[in-house]
Amino acid sequence: MSHDVIVIGGSFAGLSAAMQLARARRRVLVVDAGRPRNRFARASHGFFGQDGKAPAAIIEIARAQVQAYPTAQFIDAEATEARQHDDGFEVSIASGATYSARRLVLASGVVDELPELSGLRERWGATVLHCPYCHGFEVAGGRLAVLATAASAVHQALLLPDWSEEVTLFTNGAIEPDEAQRAALDARGVRIESTPVQGLLGEPPRLDGVRLADGRVVPLDALFTASRTRQASPLAEQLGCAFDDGPFGPVIRTGDRKETTVPGVFAAGDAARPAHNATWASSDGVTAGIAAHQSLALPAPLVAK
Ligand SMILES: Cc1cc2nc3c(=O)[nH]c(=O)nc-3n(C[C@H](O)[C@H](O)[C@H](O)COP(=O)(O)OP(=O)(O)OC[C@H]3O[C@@H](n4cnc5c(N)ncnc54)[C@H](O)[C@@H]3O)c2cc1C
Repeated sequence: MSHDVIVIGGSFAGLSAAMQLARARRRVLVVDAGRPRNRFARASHGFFGQDGKAPAAIIEIARAQVQAYPTAQFIDAEATEARQHDDGFEVSIASGATYSARRLVLASGVVDELPELSGLRERWGATVLHCPYCHGFEVAGGRLAVLATAASAVHQALLLPDWSEEVTLFTNGAIEPDEAQRAALDARGVRIESTPVQGLLGEPPRLDGVRLADGRVVPLDALFTASRTRQASPLAEQLGCAFDDGPFGPVIRTGDRKETTVPGVFAAGDAARPAHNATWASSDGVTAGIAAHQSLALPAPLVAK
């Protein structure tokens, strides 16, 4: 059976898109590989009405609510290929089965490429953190640090004193703050350490500190760092969607209504926005779902661009 819309990814963005489509009584198929980006964290913070719940629990509730609509269908699988054909799109999954639809919503997220540093990976989402808005409150008052990977580290280090008086910026050979940045960091009470970090210490996921290349140990409770990101699925590239360079990695280019440069293909969530957060992903999913629905329901000249 052909669907009206296939949504790739069944997390914050994909389920939000599917909800709008299912409520519009459209046949929507959600294909999901089950690896949301925040699965490494015990709790998700800041999401409306769900603060502090486990990421998997939030997704489970959202999925059950979408699944309750009679025109919504789910497949737990990896979508491996997407092609355009005369009146829509065809999507293949890992088993070789194919599904077709008139519109696609790509909500497949991104993958974090973490800095290569001994002891970092096993603490990701626990004591090695990407964002103070998501996890800063839980480590507030502790000994905090930023491990620089890019210029954005200065920005993050300047924010962190709102969560603790003890903040260190490890430049780690990745950045060299200029005079104005040094003055701003100094004014916020941030200590700058330019000796490279060699490894993280303590029994994971706990963090006791870091060892520097000169042998010194800096005691710490949490370390913030920005990963590089890459698209979690190759589908946008296969379909010929344009990308922009985001601050962390490539971002699928979309307009205000989350349509990509390929007509009929919409994209939402981390895959299609430069800054990342579950609420923004969900909001984009709503926009993409409604836009995809309206592109099916309205004559072309009446569809807002
Ligand atoms: C460690 C960590 C903790 C975080 N904590 C918070 C927090 O507390 N609060 C907050 O607001 N944000 C948090 N974030 C950010 C948040 O996780 C993301 O903004 C959010 O998950 C993005 O939602 P999404 O739906 O775009 O992508 P994701 O949640 O990553 O979901 C994408 C889905 O698509 C699936 N998928 C990918 N490729 C395919 C394919 N080819 N076929 C089928 N399915 C596919 C994936 O398996 C996954 O299920 C955190 C991020 C990290 C890394």
